[in-house]
Amino acid sequence: MPEDISNIFKADILAIDDTPENLALLSQMLKEKGYKVRSVTKASTGLRGAQAAPPDLILLDVKMPEMDGFEVCQHLKADDRTRDIPVIFISALGDVLDKVKAFEVGGVDYITKPFQVEEVLARLQTHLTIQRLQTQLQAQNTQLQQEIAQRAAAEEKFAKAFRASPHPIAIATLAEERFLDINQSFLRMSGYTLEEIINQTVADLNLWVTGNYTQAMQLLLKNGSLHNQECQLRTKTGEIRTVLLSIELIELAGVKCTLNIINDITERKRLEDEFISLVSHELRTPMNSIIGALDLLGTQQLGTLTAKGQQVISIAINNTERLIRLVNDILDLERMKSGKIAMQKVKCNTAQLMLQAAEAMQQMAETAQITLIVEPTNIDLWADPDRILQTLTNLLSNAIKFSEPGKTIWLRSSLQSDHLQITVQDQGRGIPTDKLQLIFERFQQVDASDSRKKGGTGLGLSICRSIIEQHHGNIWVESILGQGSTFYINLPC
Ligand code: ADP
Repeated sequence: MPEDISNIFKADILAIDDTPENLALLSQMLKEKGYKVRSVTKASTGLRGAQAAPPDLILLDVKMPEMDGFEVCQHLKADDRTRDIPVIFISALGDVLDKVKAFEVGGVDYITKPFQVEEVLARLQTHLTIQRLQTQLQAQNTQLQQEIAQRAAAEEKFAKAFRASPHPIAIATLAEERFLDINQSFLRMSGYTLEEIINQTVADLNLWVTGNYTQAMQLLLKNGSLHNQECQLRTKTGEIRTVLLSIELIELAGVKCTLNIINDITERKRLEDEFISLVSHELRTPMNSIIGALDLLGTQQLGTLTAKGQQVISIAINNTERLIRLVNDILDLERMKSGKIAMQKVKCNTAQLMLQAAEAMQQMAETAQITLIVEPTNIDLWADPDRILQTLTNLLSNAIKFSEPGKTIWLRSSLQSDHLQITVQDQGRGIPTDKLQLIFERFQQVDASDSRKKGGTGLGLSICRSIIEQHHGNIWVESILGQGSTFYINLPC
């Protein structure tokens, strides 16, 4: 009990009793125990007092001349300000207390006069404690309700943003890649209905063209997120759309999931391709006539040149040849992508192709003081030998270009379960992680000055990828900055 008293030390008690002696006795007793007591002898004054400054508990005499205790209690319960104040009725010994009525009008307990100190205090404390707990519960309940409302509002906001986003968005499980939720934009782009896609996996729907997507997922697992990786998405009708895929890992009900946000750039790509191919076609004829004219001048068929003139012409020829190479590469790539160039596949020998590629690059390697080591495997391959050779020389040429004198390059091959793997490993400058995928895209170079300094066009790897994909293989690179890179080619045997 002592601890309860300390809890309710300042509890404010209103005592309403028309007998002043009773009141004096009660007040004295409660004040001694540390309560704050207001005592009134008139029912109406008590009611007004309770409304003006609601007490923590009311002790109410049943029998009063002007208005009896039951009526006072009814007034108290009818008023919002006083409704929740616990009321304990006091009845005199000999009066017959209508207990049922006492509870009916809202009383919580009753005491019979003359008072027994311990009993009054025990009952008071019990009801004050109940009241305090109730108030606490109510406050907690209100707070919970508010939190629920706030959470619901926030969820609604995000759900709306998810549904209405102009970007296709999908949520899938990480392990199985099973779709849990899809927005309208995703359905529009993919051509599927919600029922057709929910609970299906990426593999069930054959949604992504492998290669870029596989690499994107590897990057996601390595870095924990993915930003704007170019991938090819297959719609329900089989149409291929080029998209930038961004993924964040999230956890839903304890399950690791991916939040996939897509930016469809198919149309932008098409316009870009169209523009580049148009410009390239337009450039090719005048370029050829320029190089013809420069050749005539350079070989002095139109008159003798000074040494300075020779030098200028030779710079002009160099640059024009680079431009012609660029234009030819662009058109080559475009024709390959659109399937206008079919691969002339025949049975060829990997070892032979590798030795041929190394031989073609030997002069360049020697000039750059690079050692070229070939470790071929004797495996037969069903492929277009010229195109595979083009790929290997391109990779070797890059490896030489980006290595310092004195370094070594290895061209190796091996038979792995169901495919052939060819690798080109260098000890060159390496490639930053965020560029490992990007360099296979058209015109993408690690350093903007690479094309000027190293004479490349930024199309080589794009062409290599196109060739390898036409052979149903894949190509990728692993690299450590400052230590070197290894390009991998997997080809089905
Ligand atoms: P380029 O004609 O510029 O060589 P590529 O498509 O062949 O075009 O290569 C694209 C870019 O990738 C290069 O400009 C270079 O920045 C980077 N790269 C390619 N191969 C290597 C390599 N072996 N080491 C370091 N960087 C490389």
